[in-house]
Amino acid sequence: MGEVKISDVSLAFDKENGESTLALDNVSLEIRDKEFICFIGPSGCGKTTLLRTIAGLETPDSGEITLDGERITVPDSKRGMVFQEYSLFPWNTVIQNITFGPRMQGMSKGESLERAEKYLKLVGLEQFRNSYPYELSGGMRQRVAIARALANEPKVLLMDEPFGALDAQTRNTLQNELLDVWAKNQITIVFVTHSVDEAVFLADKIVVMTARPGKIKKVINVELPRP
Ligand code: ADP
Ligand code: ADP
Repeated sequence: MGEVKISDVSLAFDKENGESTLALDNVSLEIRDKEFICFIGPSGCGKTTLLRTIAGLETPDSGEITLDGERITVPDSKRGMVFQEYSLFPWNTVIQNITFGPRMQGMSKGESLERAEKYLKLVGLEQFRNSYPYELSGGMRQRVAIARALANEPKVLLMDEPFGALDAQTRNTLQNELLDVWAKNQITIVFVTHSVDEAVFLADKIVVMTARPGKIKKVINVELPRP
């Protein structure tokens, strides 16, 4: 299961001048198991903050978020995260990057390696297992980042503009690959983007947020035939 329930979440950031910025204002939403949901909205509307709160990287001032009924307080392996870029350990090889999570979960070296190989294969980069991130193209690095997030076998994959730094053609390839991964792995995906096109292409459901303070403006169900 990977059901996320966001209930009346508000979160403000303190500014240096003593004031505060309300980043999330009473946000409530239910994300169903295996749903592919996209958050869109103008820059500064709280998309990243909401994603980080679901990840357990930010704590709401009020309200709560639960995953399968359990309150989220800290990051754990039930949620995997993929950022826009620079999220790989540069001094580690591809395979070391992917085994890191399973090792942290206390899995043996052999088991972690097995896991890592499985997801490396899923993103089609087996032959780059011993390469370093700087030796790979942007698209390949994001494939590794996806494999690394999946290696923990999370219930929910949280993605913050993961393809935003890629050229249009690579982005398109990765979008298709992600849909494929999603279909094969049957997990919930929460995806932040500021591209309406990307949201429409990927999502079952699009959540539109308004700027300052971040609120949900509308929720759109996408009913397009999938590729
Ligand atoms: P988005 O991802 O939609 O661009 P963010 O979630 O990054 O929006 O930001 C929402 C609001 O919170 C913005 O006004 C931003 O300036 C503010 N904010 C985000 N992170 C911090 C932070 N760490 N400290 C202070 N203000 C922040
Ligand atoms: P980008 O950032 O532009 O990722 P690609 O993902 O298409 O674009 O990769 C760039 C180059 O890396 C391509 O020219 C391709 O030959 C090579 N490449 C990418 N993925 C693989 C792969 N799985 N096996 C072999 N070569 C690959």
